[in-house]
Amino acid sequence: KDFRNNVKPNWCPGCGDFSVQAAIQRAAANAGVVPEELAVVSGIGCSGRISGYINSYGLHGIHGRALPIAQGVKMANRELTVIASGGDGDGFAIGMGHTVHAIRRNIDVTYIVMDNQIYGLTKGQTSPRSEMGFKTKSTPAGSIESSLNVMEMALTAGASFVAQSFSSDLKELTSLIEKGIEHKGFSLINVFSPCVTFNKVNTYDWFKENLTSLSTIEDYNPSSRMQAMNTLMEHDGLVTGLIYQDKDKPSYEALVNGFKEEALATQDINLEKEQFDKLTAEFM
Ligand code: SF4
Repeated sequence: KDFRNNVKPNWCPGCGDFSVQAAIQRAAANAGVVPEELAVVSGIGCSGRISGYINSYGLHGIHGRALPIAQGVKMANRELTVIASGGDGDGFAIGMGHTVHAIRRNIDVTYIVMDNQIYGLTKGQTSPRSEMGFKTKSTPAGSIESSLNVMEMALTAGASFVAQSFSSDLKELTSLIEKGIEHKGFSLINVFSPCVTFNKVNTYDWFKENLTSLSTIEDYNPSSRMQAMNTLMEHDGLVTGLIYQDKDKPSYEALVNGFKEEALATQDINLEKEQFDKLTAEFM
């Protein structure tokens, strides 16, 4: 089925987010999902517009809160494939608390972060992913804070699926999102998605020169957390591919006590008080 709609994205020409949109649409189709089974929830930022550009259920939420909303959607109707999306400021600054807890909770949501190392929507301030020394309007003398290595953070938080890609590599990005959708648990996919308007340092050419594909590392084994961590440290986080996957870690949904077979969203809502109390007690 076609995940395209007739809304024209208003991203700047050349923005990396176009590829992420295309990759989500292709990956969902490849995974056998149909539009009425997909929900895309986004936060605030240029990337947050993405939920309006995909033919699916969509919710453009509030800053840093894509994950709480996406988790609520999944809990209410676990038959939906749920994708949360946003930028690095959205997910790794104001939304960082939600990111860490969604990771350790291992709820079955695919979280795609469009990481451009800057705040694009507000016209170019330093983000948690900006390198030390990075000059922006908010740091004219250069940032005095170090960049957050989100992939290492995800591994230490207990992530069961960690991947990283680049907007220029649509094939790999599509494949990783498809794997994330199929993964039974929380999947974090960080995408280097250049902001061509405000970030003149981390450009397409810069990434091409500095990224290392895991496919070029002999005997790389994504089921080894130790190797994943060592590789990230050796390459300063600048790797692409499936970094780590633990297929055996149970998802949150699999562990919720007394989770009914039928999704909440499809249950009869005309309940007597006694029935309502019984239903809500299952989530205590
Ligand atoms: Fe993309 Fe940057 Fe333009 Fe925003 S400002 S749409 S992130 S290129």
